[in-house]
Amino acid sequence: MQEDKHKAANARYTIGVDFGGTYVKLALVRFSEKNFKIEGYSSFPTKNYNRDSLIEQLVIRIIKLKAESTYKGNRVRGVGIGVPGRVDFNQGLVFDLTNVPGWKNVHLKEALESKVKIPVLIDNDANLMALAESRFGAAKGYKNCICVTMGTGIGGGLILNGKIYRGMNFAAGEIGHMSISEDGPVCVCGGRGCAERYIGNRYILEQATRKLRAGARSILREQLQGKYSNLTLEMLNKAARMKDMFSLLIWQEAGKHMGTVLANVVNLLNPEIIVLGGGVANAGSLLLDPIRRVVKERAFQVSCRNLKIISSKFRGKAGIIGAALLILTSKEKLGK
Ligand SMILES: [Zn+2]
Repeated sequence: MQEDKHKAANARYTIGVDFGGTYVKLALVRFSEKNFKIEGYSSFPTKNYNRDSLIEQLVIRIIKLKAESTYKGNRVRGVGIGVPGRVDFNQGLVFDLTNVPGWKNVHLKEALESKVKIPVLIDNDANLMALAESRFGAAKGYKNCICVTMGTGIGGGLILNGKIYRGMNFAAGEIGHMSISEDGPVCVCGGRGCAERYIGNRYILEQATRKLRAGARSILREQLQGKYSNLTLEMLNKAARMKDMFSLLIWQEAGKHMGTVLANVVNLLNPEIIVLGGGVANAGSLLLDPIRRVVKERAFQVSCRNLKIISSKFRGKAGIIGAALLILTSKEKLGK
């Protein structure tokens, strides 16, 4: 009993919001010295709400979580929010979101703080995944860590000397838009040959579908029965694990592209660890093995000597944990 009281006294509560292109997820997170616990989790589909009604929905749910926590005698210190786009971290201004329309230059911090009456901080989602993994997850104990989210887009979060590195205009870490081919296909960012243009999940599927249509041999042909647009990453994963050569080669190719990009990142920053997360990264060793091999071949040997390249520990939860952690690691922004 005594011990429980002591633990409660040391616990710190914040709210984490993972604002994704598909779902908005939020929860109250209780932090102790070495651990955390997610409480009161809820989520809603992003596309069901326009900008204003989504902000309204956030306000309602945050106030509810805050009230529940206060009822139990715990003060909530603030709300951290991760968004899939570029943010002015100091002002809490969302410049734009890659896959959510209607979010250009939105003062989200201001809009929420006036209603929820506790501090709100907003950051890029890949930065927050990196924060979560470096404090409690796969990169725990490392001061220099690169996190890459591989999904529809390829995002990057940099932890350098134990802190998030955001760059002059909060645009650092755009690993998906590093070019691997000067004359390659045009990317949404306006560049050419960006990594995302080859290994964003849509492009992996596009490439595989094209090859199947052209007559490539694979067990996937029977499974799809001519409906090639039904192909998913999960099916490519499964087939590759059944030693389907076609699917294995698709992952090897994706790993080669990612490895080429990461070799450049390693030569630039000489990190201790690289953590891969996001839907594409669910391919696990199918992707990790070729990535490790290519990085070793292409980056400076000295940089690869103790370098670790591994999968995310928290997977889908990294966003909420990182967002909730942001409040605890940014005291200066809260005037404390
Ligand atoms: Zn690009």
